[in-house]
Amino acid sequence: MPELPEVELFTRYFAEHALRQKVARVDVRDARILGVREDVLDGAVRGRAFKRVLRHGKHLFADAGKEWLHLHFGMSGDLAYYSEVSDQPRFARVIFDFTNGKHLAFEDMRLFGVVDVTSSPDDYIREHNLGPDPIDDAFTLKRFREIVAPRRGVVKSLLMSQDIIAGIGNLYADETLFQTSVHPRRPVDQLSRDEVAAIYATMRKILRDVIVRKARGASYPPRYLVTHREEGERCPRCGGTIRRTVVFGRTTYFCGKHQR
Ligand SMILES: [Zn+2]
Repeated sequence: MPELPEVELFTRYFAEHALRQKVARVDVRDARILGVREDVLDGAVRGRAFKRVLRHGKHLFADAGKEWLHLHFGMSGDLAYYSEVSDQPRFARVIFDFTNGKHLAFEDMRLFGVVDVTSSPDDYIREHNLGPDPIDDAFTLKRFREIVAPRRGVVKSLLMSQDIIAGIGNLYADETLFQTSVHPRRPVDQLSRDEVAAIYATMRKILRDVIVRKARGASYPPRYLVTHREEGERCPRCGGTIRRTVVFGRTTYFCGKHQR
């Protein structure tokens, strides 16, 4: 399921392939993916070229001149840029045909993604009440402390709530807590100052490192929890036992020994 690092790579892919080419046609193959009327999408991008592309959290925004295309990748969204119709992905939901004869498909087998249009990324972020992007340079430890201070409830839900911090899902919430030795059910108001600082720094390091690794086709480091997500598995950090539970409605893995 795409989280911030994966959407960052989609954004780079979009920038590499789909900028500065005129859109000849918008081919909606399955209107269930649309968050806007088909004629509105068509009117926003047909005959235009995408000038730049940005990411906020798990959201991609492409500037089409007057309006912005917005993509959310849901559970199984992906992008494919190709020349030959025979290379069209099986689950292509919307295809942008460019005047150079090439195509960009938004594919999404499970249809939890969204393709729509917004007046600007800032408007979208405000209207949908999205929190700050955790790897943004403006997202300081001071800002994170301000966000955490009034919160109650368990720490995993804090990390996953898109209105608090935008971009982290189940996988990287678990990874952050694993690497900071914090139990996913710890109440936020019982975290020490050092723990809050550690969560902040580790979360950003993980997201940035995963982007760098994935950008060069590498897999996760062996000491990450992500490669040990199985009940009874041995913890790669302390030799304890990996446990599975449900927190915030999501299957959660943690080390029963070193996460407190
Ligand atoms: Zn452990």
